[in-house]
Amino acid sequence: MPRNEPSLIPTNVDFERGGKQFGHLAVPHSRNESAWGSLLVPIVCIRNGEGPTILFTAGNHGDEYEGQVALHKLARELSPDDVSGRVIIMPALNLPAVRGAARISPIDGGNMNRSFPGHPRGTLTQRVAHFVTVELLPRADIVVDMHSGGKSLDFVPSAIMHDLDDRKRFDTTLAALKAFGAPVSLILKELDSIGMLDTEAEEMGKIFISTELGGAGTMSPRSVAIAETGVRNLLRHFGVLPGEPSSETPTRMMDTPDGAFVKSEVNGIYEPFYALGDEVKAGEPLGQIHDFERPEMEAVQAFAPIDGMLFCRHVAGLTTRGDSLAVIAVDRAE
Ligand SMILES: [Zn+2]
Repeated sequence: MPRNEPSLIPTNVDFERGGKQFGHLAVPHSRNESAWGSLLVPIVCIRNGEGPTILFTAGNHGDEYEGQVALHKLARELSPDDVSGRVIIMPALNLPAVRGAARISPIDGGNMNRSFPGHPRGTLTQRVAHFVTVELLPRADIVVDMHSGGKSLDFVPSAIMHDLDDRKRFDTTLAALKAFGAPVSLILKELDSIGMLDTEAEEMGKIFISTELGGAGTMSPRSVAIAETGVRNLLRHFGVLPGEPSSETPTRMMDTPDGAFVKSEVNGIYEPFYALGDEVKAGEPLGQIHDFERPEMEAVQAFAPIDGMLFCRHVAGLTTRGDSLAVIAVDRAE
């Protein structure tokens, strides 16, 4: 089993050493332009004294930017003297995807967040996933994987956790989710959890938080600020940095009940009727899809399945049958 095999990727970072180290994983990448070349995937380790280990990752999908920016800034700004414990940062987890401004790796077609636990002798994407599985997750107490919507989706900025059977871990994770302080704190039912970093970390019993901080392949000053505040709030919440978490706005606790996902029935141009964050009612049309080759055809409407808030929406003008057009979130009864 890959989980029991050591990683074959060398790194110049010593996770046991104190202080701040900027280093990389050197993933062998032999190709036409560089026979003995390597992909140098950045990694940062900041350690001082006693305390928990927090692993922060971003660039799991290359076209999701708030987490990447927040983690680059955190890596440069954190002083080891301020830290109690260890902070490990990988801001460009799928580096070829980051270089290509793409969700998945243009080199091997690997979707990092469907590649876990990875494989020590697999593709570049599988090898990096495997390094995280065997070298980083076992060292971490808390894992924070930062996503946004990428080029095809846009989200109301949110921190996310999954419903967990283990009540103690659920409560600990929920407290961290609230501490992050995003406008929405969401308990999400995944559409497809196989191969996700989330699943691997949760199966190891780690505290796991994810985010969806914006999207459309870009970012805003506000969404970056939410990301930066959130990572520092988590460090304070777990005592790695001194002080208390604080946030400008109160967080709204929400979840995604069954039927929250709306799929496109047809191919065409999607005309949205609502903006992100709008409240919608069950049965109302959320938008309509025009057949761009047959103007005589009536547009096909997509309906809200439940009452709630438009939490996520498809941003590309063009849509294909089977695409997620919208996700509706509802306030959580506590
Ligand atoms: Zn993502």
